[in-house]
Amino acid sequence: MTVQPIVMLGDPRLRLKGEPVDAFGKYLHELLDDLAETMRAAPGVGLAAPQLGIALQACVVEVEGQLHELINPRMVRSTGDDHDLEGCLSLPGYVAYVTRREKVWIAAQNRHGRKVKVAGAGLLSRAMQHELDHLAGKLYIDYLGSLDELIPVSQLQEEQGESAERELAPLA
Ligand code: ZN
Repeated sequence: MTVQPIVMLGDPRLRLKGEPVDAFGKYLHELLDDLAETMRAAPGVGLAAPQLGIALQACVVEVEGQLHELINPRMVRSTGDDHDLEGCLSLPGYVAYVTRREKVWIAAQNRHGRKVKVAGAGLLSRAMQHELDHLAGKLYIDYLGSLDELIPVSQLQEEQGESAERELAPLA
């Protein structure tokens, strides 16, 4: 496992659509291990292959100590709306309010190619939607009316004091 450099906003590789994964061997396993290691080092709650410059349908999400490896994921159902702060490891230092689905059901494959389903609400739901967007070349800033809506994390911490230490801005 190796911590890899994360591709930053402005790099065209972030806008590539991930190709479907059809080989579930050593290459994929090393990619998933690197994704988890790099996500934890950041730290963040999710990371997608395009953020390591690899245009494949693979991402990881880790919330409350539970690691999910999602290969070829798609959203099969969602309910409700949730408006909250969100950040991205490819755009460090900023967050913004983004409306997401409150609860989602994701169908995917695991690292061995077996079918899995993950249901998530709250942070898990937001992080999975954020990662699925990355696999489609999409970023959370695409939902903003203007980049003026971006809030510097430093400003947020000043306003909220130490309480900002909470799970501030799911960074993925
Ligand atoms: Zn992101």
